[in-house]
Amino acid sequence: MASIPPPDEAMSDNGDEQQAEVRSAFFDVTLPAKHAYLGQDLREIHSTPFYAEGSLVTLPFVYVPDVVLMPNQQIPINVDAHDVDINVLINDMGDIENQRKGFVCMAADVGFDLSHVKDSHPYFLFGTVASVVKIEKQPTMPADVGIEGGTRMIVRGCQRCLLKDFVSRGPFHRQHGLFRILPENGLEPPLEIIMPNEWKSAVSLAKRGAQIAANLTPYSPALFATFDVVHLVAELRKEIMALQLKPEMDIDATDFSYWLSTTLPLPAHFRLQLLGAVSTVHRLRSCLMMLRTFNRLNCAVCGIGLAVKEDGICMNRGDLTAAYINPGGVTQEIFTMRKVSNISVFGAPTAEYTWFPGYTWRHLRCRGCHGHVGWKYESESPELVPKFFYGLRRGDVVPSIQPEEGMNPSELQEFFQVQNGAMQPVYYREK
Ligand SMILES: [Zn+2]
Repeated sequence: MASIPPPDEAMSDNGDEQQAEVRSAFFDVTLPAKHAYLGQDLREIHSTPFYAEGSLVTLPFVYVPDVVLMPNQQIPINVDAHDVDINVLINDMGDIENQRKGFVCMAADVGFDLSHVKDSHPYFLFGTVASVVKIEKQPTMPADVGIEGGTRMIVRGCQRCLLKDFVSRGPFHRQHGLFRILPENGLEPPLEIIMPNEWKSAVSLAKRGAQIAANLTPYSPALFATFDVVHLVAELRKEIMALQLKPEMDIDATDFSYWLSTTLPLPAHFRLQLLGAVSTVHRLRSCLMMLRTFNRLNCAVCGIGLAVKEDGICMNRGDLTAAYINPGGVTQEIFTMRKVSNISVFGAPTAEYTWFPGYTWRHLRCRGCHGHVGWKYESESPELVPKFFYGLRRGDVVPSIQPEEGMNPSELQEFFQVQNGAMQPVYYREK
């Protein structure tokens, strides 16, 4: 009989002991989305902006640095009266017109020279029309001298759009832009496109029909399947099952593609490209490639490995990721992990302003570069499990791939170029 190894202090952060808990209650994963740390002063609003696909609309916009709001995603943000005409947008929410108007959340600060951005980083111009879900009961009014605080809101992504130009409005130089509302393109199954019309009513596309249609081309049915929404969704569901991610049941393929883009540990520039993908198929293909190739999260600064893909833990409904506001009013997005490595924990535990009720938090520092990379959360009561977990900040980690051993430097460079190139989605470009 094997002897039980003594507890190893150095391994105390590996999370295995969580499995041994008896008579315990797992954390209520619906709590984080309630944002209780923001207080009780939030009132519910049901604004529903909607614009015709392809139309050009003038809307106010705000920058939420490095946070890409996806359609259907809800995030808390802190808006300054400098940024958005809060008087117009918020104080009069009873006005139907204002409820419909909404505003745009942009992740990248594009400065004032759009022509430069259009050439160098065209995906920086993607944004999302946001509706207000909840707002502080007493929004901060623009003051004559100085603005303090700002207005806290929970917003929901509605429609994606592309910044075409800046629009000057009023004496206060608040930010307005001319936005193209991007269409939601679902691509037809490729075999249906090549199939003669008279076959479509006679032959089911399932299996045998697809095989016959593919025989009209030099390519195999398997190749066409990689551009087929139904096939892509089925493959992606297999991949995320292994990671214990749980999307809502019965969401359509486009919403599923946005949910993946929200929950996968991807950096902001990659998510912007997913937001602007030319079609649902392109977004799903990129997510599938990403899920199949990346296997760990590295520090974005020094490249040291901080976590492996399989160690994610869903602490916000079925998601690995969630966005919160810190006491400074900055929206932070984290990935929750049950284990991390190359991390040191510092600071005294505190429950103040905690994003996870019942858990205290401390800071995490990367052992490679000593940069702040997130927080460790520890349960305050012995019954609450997991006893601890970690939140890695989205902007501080990059998904990475473990290449095969024995590659020389030039082979390694090519390997990473090929992998990164394969994952990039084709995104919308204005003609
Ligand atoms: Zn580092």
